[in-house]
Amino acid sequence: MHDLLVMGSGIAGLTTALHAARRGMSVVVLTKGELSHSATRYAQGGVAAAFAPPDSPDLHLADTLVAGSGLCDADAVRVLVEEGPDRVRELAAMGARFDTEPSAEGDQLLLAREGGHSLARVVHAGGDATGAEIERALVEAVERSDIEVRTGWFAIELLRERGRSEGVLALSPTGGVEFVRALDTVLATGGAGQCFAVTTNPALSTGDGIALSLRAGVACADLEFVQFHPTALHHPSMPRPLLSEALRGEGAVLRDDEGSAFMAGAHPLADLAPRDIVSRAIYARMMDENVEHVWLDATMIEDFEHRFPTIWAACQGVGLDPTNDWLPVAPAAHYLSGGVVTDLDGATTLPHLWSCGETACSGVHGANRLASNSLLDGLVFGRRVIEAIVRDKREADSTGAMTGVLDLTAVAVDEDPVVLPRNNPTAPDKVRGAVQRTMSSDCGVVRDAGGLKLAADTLGDLAGLADDLPAREMATYEVLNLLRVSRAIVDAAATREETRGSHARADYPEASDDLLGRFVFRGSARPEFVPLSAGSRGGNA
Ligand SMILES: Cc1cc2nc3c(=O)[nH]c(=O)nc-3n(C[C@H](O)[C@H](O)[C@H](O)COP(=O)(O)OP(=O)(O)OC[C@H]3O[C@@H](n4cnc5c(N)ncnc54)[C@H](O)[C@@H]3O)c2cc1C
Repeated sequence: MHDLLVMGSGIAGLTTALHAARRGMSVVVLTKGELSHSATRYAQGGVAAAFAPPDSPDLHLADTLVAGSGLCDADAVRVLVEEGPDRVRELAAMGARFDTEPSAEGDQLLLAREGGHSLARVVHAGGDATGAEIERALVEAVERSDIEVRTGWFAIELLRERGRSEGVLALSPTGGVEFVRALDTVLATGGAGQCFAVTTNPALSTGDGIALSLRAGVACADLEFVQFHPTALHHPSMPRPLLSEALRGEGAVLRDDEGSAFMAGAHPLADLAPRDIVSRAIYARMMDENVEHVWLDATMIEDFEHRFPTIWAACQGVGLDPTNDWLPVAPAAHYLSGGVVTDLDGATTLPHLWSCGETACSGVHGANRLASNSLLDGLVFGRRVIEAIVRDKREADSTGAMTGVLDLTAVAVDEDPVVLPRNNPTAPDKVRGAVQRTMSSDCGVVRDAGGLKLAADTLGDLAGLADDLPAREMATYEVLNLLRVSRAIVDAAATREETRGSHARADYPEASDDLLGRFVFRGSARPEFVPLSAGSRGGNA
């Protein structure tokens, strides 16, 4: 049996694995694709961290709390912003090559400014290829280590024995179902953008860790907070190429079909307004004009090809020249702020089960993630998990997003995801597409009770179809997970009768002070409300 089993090979999983190996633990990483397959490698803008004056952890904290719209856990954010700079320096020391400029004191990190940040604090690599560089550096470090890597392995179910985590049941590349046991297990399986038809997330972002946790009665929260990125390229390719906010930082302007720069009248920060505001303004324009996209005019940006090589290549790939053409854009599901509830050390409600990265809900993102805080989240909390295990911690404390959650009674759980062989199986892609279309049309940028009821009913019908999916195929388990997570997102969105952060309700357009808290699933069919204590909360509603 290994000391540590890590599920996932993005920034969160590999950071955790490397720290564990350095501490002398025997580690096995299970990942469903190749080692480098992750959402991490698609990240463009960079990693936010307050390195030196005039910036400070306090300023970074303040910006994060504002973005989180009253639902961040202030202690979790303090951990993020205070430990962040050292974690980024460690990543650079390990081999990640961030963009720098020469100065009298030697090479200095180049810092960019993104929406919601009060000053430039985002380090980047290869211009807009930050995630690819980080993933490269992490993968190479893992390949130099003693860590055992199992690629093409898919975690199906959490193993829970004697009230603690014992590892997972996994589908092997040859189609066998095997137990993989470890003293401690880390869920770092990324986000769930694939619940939606239009997303920037790669095909692997199917919310697996969250689905496994929901089934096992491990607490999950804040699932209604899906951040929609306003400017994904409107093109049939999936995932949708992302046209980073940095383009608007360099002067790019959103225009409607008439050519009008509509953000100027919508918010004092115009095109650099927070993501949720821009997404809603685009959505409203698309509804008014009955069109499928608006336009991003980036023709004024000089040296586009060298400043934004990834975006340049994506545009060229679909026959667009950003120096001449307006680019068609529409909002796309981008980031899940909620997930598996953890304390400040990444501990979940199941002893010896830990979570970090986009899968986790540590309390740092609240109702809306601040741009470029998620890579940092994986770096900071990935290391904290290992430090806690080394201290012999076994169970969660009532800190971070876990505050108040341990008091909820866990409900014994129900569903068995292991699928039996069928004679005439339904193609998984068919059900997957139907789930995605349902979520995009009825649980998207702007929601209301009628649409959410429709979504719940349709997902219920689709769950019936899922019984006929082929056995022992990864595609089948992914669809089951998409269905499970989508149901929870819809239930949480229907229960939160207010507009806050990235969750917008047309029928409840204001934020409500009565709803300053988290909706938590802990085995229960409906989410339960856990109010935030005045001490743990920070920032503006
Ligand atoms: C286009 C794009 C641009 C972005 N830009 C930025 C940015 O500039 N800055 C920023 O901070 N964030 C950005 N983000 C968000 C950020 O990239 C992600 O939140 C972060 O990389 C998530 O890392 P992770 O390690 O948690 O998960 P991932 O990187 O998604 O890794 C998850 C891993 O788990 C594996 N896995 C999943 N399910 C299973 C299973 N059942 N069994 C075994 N393995 C499994 C996957 O194969 C994968 O290896 C961006 C995201 C996208 C999509």
